[in-house]
Amino acid sequence: MDINWSELPFGYFKTDYNVRCYYRNDKWGELEVSSSEHIDIHMAATGLHYGQEAFEGLKGYRGVDGKVRLFRWEENAKRMQLSAQGIMMAEVPKELFEKALRTVAKLNNKYIPPYGTGSTLYFRPLLFGSGAEVGVKPAKEYMFMVFVTPVGPYFKEGFKPVSIEVVRDFDRAAPLGTGHIKVGGNYAASMRAGHRAHANGFSSVLFLDAKEKKYIDEAGPANFFGIKDNTYITPKSKSILHSITNMSLEQIARDLGLTVERRPVPFEELETFEEAGACGTAAIISPIGKIYDRINDVTIEYGKEAGPISTKLYETLRGIQEGRVEDKHGWTTVLEGI
Ligand SMILES: *Cc1c(COP(=O)(O)O)cnc(C)c1O
Repeated sequence: MDINWSELPFGYFKTDYNVRCYYRNDKWGELEVSSSEHIDIHMAATGLHYGQEAFEGLKGYRGVDGKVRLFRWEENAKRMQLSAQGIMMAEVPKELFEKALRTVAKLNNKYIPPYGTGSTLYFRPLLFGSGAEVGVKPAKEYMFMVFVTPVGPYFKEGFKPVSIEVVRDFDRAAPLGTGHIKVGGNYAASMRAGHRAHANGFSSVLFLDAKEKKYIDEAGPANFFGIKDNTYITPKSKSILHSITNMSLEQIARDLGLTVERRPVPFEELETFEEAGACGTAAIISPIGKIYDRINDVTIEYGKEAGPISTKLYETLRGIQEGRVEDKHGWTTVLEGI
């Protein structure tokens, strides 16, 4: 097998196996291994018609010591349970979630990118209503699966700031809706805004709170943070997905002696930040260089290079994931025997 690890895109790359488990008659069955990329779904499955579907995203990192580490996978397991509760699906037990990750990693060992390439093994756990219903109600059967795909470094040209666009004519999620859980419906709702932003040359959108359009909400598929006066500030909102990366950056910020504030962030405050960024598993941090507000034709600029604090936060978290920086909080799990 000849893979150019450093040139991999952030996309789908076929691996050998995936793992699957079915919930039927009120219980989960045995974890099964499959070498097929396809799944056989009932045409009336609630996952297809009524959006009963949730997913997760996490990575396996080959460390400087050759070991493969998962990062805070228990948080992903917990979040998938929250998502399941939110749209009335069967919850995946933590033990099953863990077994699926370990099994699929081991089976696809040869697709785990080597240390130093910037590439990682991306895990995509998926849960959906597989049982047939025509009326709107929760399915009685569910499918849980995990596939993996090696993904390339997020920043091929280095850790460089991106430009994003504020949107006021689209919302991603309602205050009492499903914005706080990782369900596909939120992504469907954000696609038109995201597509337009890309067409206009922006890498992502910045959503405002759906009710008043006064506060910063989600930065596309990532959480927003700003930095000023040695303080890490991130929005508090009922419609934001709790990013595990953001939680970790908050802790690292505290460890570095910054103050951390999670509170509503008014739009007007954007121009007072010294640094701004979007955070999530894919990139850890996408430093934000520019925010464009089309309606008011205003551009807020943070500079052409990533700020010193964002850079330090990024380097520290990446260092922990790759086994170069001490894991003081016990965030990583070494996958033995890989
Ligand atoms: C997955 C996701 C994130 C990032 O969460 P991480 O746990 O850091 O990967 C942020 N926002 C949204 C809307 C997401 O779906």
